[in-house]
Amino acid sequence: MQKIKIKSNRREELIDITKEVKNYLIESNIKNGIITLFVPHTTAAITINENSDPNVKMDIVNFLRKLIPHDYNFAHIEGNSDAHIKSSLIGNSLTLMVEDGKLLLGTWQDIFFCEFDGPRDREIWIKIL
Ligand code: ZN
Repeated sequence: MQKIKIKSNRREELIDITKEVKNYLIESNIKNGIITLFVPHTTAAITINENSDPNVKMDIVNFLRKLIPHDYNFAHIEGNSDAHIKSSLIGNSLTLMVEDGKLLLGTWQDIFFCEFDGPRDREIWIKIL
């Protein structure tokens, strides 16, 4: 297992980590298998979506913010329940296929780390099987 370090700059943002994942794959020298990505945080997540139009990731962040408002009357005393809920909705892990040394993603797909309670120093755990 290795760790990809991430530094978020805003409270909520989607950060493209596709290049970091591909670099890990190249360094591993594994040509065929399964790659697992895991986010060990309760107020962050990981997802795959379109990266050619940056408005898509902005729409995801803005719509989640509207759906789950930060200032809603939540019971959790830390005051970041919106981030916990967003983390659970989007999810903590991804499983991807590796074939002939290539990460299999659709034409428009890239991998995003989802920050919901930044800015913070974060990490993703990554392993190829
Ligand atoms: Zn909390």
